[in-house]
Amino acid sequence: MSGDYYEILGVSRSATKDEIKSAYRKMARKYHPDVNKDPGAEERFKEINRAYEVLSEPETKARYDRFGEAGVGGASSGGVGFDPNDMGGFADIFETFFGGGFGGGGAGTATRRRGPTRGDDLRLDLRLKFREAIFGGEKEIKIPHLETCQTCNGSGAKAGSSPKTCGTCGGTGQVKRATRTPFGSFAQVSTCPTCNGEGQIIEEKCDSCGGQGRKQVNKKLKITIPAGVDNGTRLRVTGEGDAGSRGGPSGDLYVYLAVENDTHFKRDGINILSEMTISYLQAILGCRLKVPTIDGEHEITIPAGLQPNTVMTLEDKGVPKLGNSVSRGNHLLTIKVDIPTKINSEERELLEKLAQIKGEHTSKKGFEGFFESIFHK
Ligand code: ZN
Repeated sequence: MSGDYYEILGVSRSATKDEIKSAYRKMARKYHPDVNKDPGAEERFKEINRAYEVLSEPETKARYDRFGEAGVGGASSGGVGFDPNDMGGFADIFETFFGGGFGGGGAGTATRRRGPTRGDDLRLDLRLKFREAIFGGEKEIKIPHLETCQTCNGSGAKAGSSPKTCGTCGGTGQVKRATRTPFGSFAQVSTCPTCNGEGQIIEEKCDSCGGQGRKQVNKKLKITIPAGVDNGTRLRVTGEGDAGSRGGPSGDLYVYLAVENDTHFKRDGINILSEMTISYLQAILGCRLKVPTIDGEHEITIPAGLQPNTVMTLEDKGVPKLGNSVSRGNHLLTIKVDIPTKINSEERELLEKLAQIKGEHTSKKGFEGFFESIFHK
């Protein structure tokens, strides 16, 4: 199975360290077992990692260049066993796939290990109404996830029987093969083909789960949305991911929230924003008004002489703080002032009178009046 390490990464023998690194990332991304489900992808992924392990270190690279694979046979501690925790660059790749928010839990399916394995973490996207996000509440969701089979209690074996130790690997889940080279014989460890690395063989499979020990179930779940969540808030529901295999712990469910817009209110963190338009008379003379807030109508006083686009702060009428809902943000109300485009003759008369008192030049007949006021002073 061992090809040339440069060929495996698709780089030339004169490739620089950076070129090797970027080629490795590209290949690892392509063949990562969480992404590529083709048979043989995992094996390929191991080869890629092995190749990079050797070629990324100047010392092992030099030895490989001189002696080939035999020169680096002892360099890798655990053979080619795939263990994401041992692998340099793994977290890096993982973040590229999942945007970094997902931790390491998702590696569960790729890691074939004997014995209990933790179940996968799952993601659910949930839309909330504007007010649901602000005030929180209970929400019913449905999630498809794997649950431990009740019939066989997760063993996968038929009632009355139990899994047998695999005869090929003797229960270790791995087989060793000796590779002879001019420099000696080297052991290569790979997953046992008989039991797929589980170390056990189920001869009589459970009818209910077909020997998997787990079953896909659509589960209804009530979750509590805390007050103050926002777009992109992630809620973790412990233990509601996929069930673990062979009695391993369950993964977690991550609920990603998306909040719908409101027609009247906008949200800026813990503050609520809204606009309101008053007449120019209200702005000049002041008034009392009822304004909508997320708590319902609230009476405010517009002081006389209010300027257009003044922002009034309604304290504690904003969004409850996530995790401390007693404390709240503010409601920031922007006041627009409406200057009418048309007025009736009565209004016009009154306003002109007012203008005369104030000694202001106004246009009596539109543009003509405007020119008169300029040229016939
Ligand atoms: Zn079962």
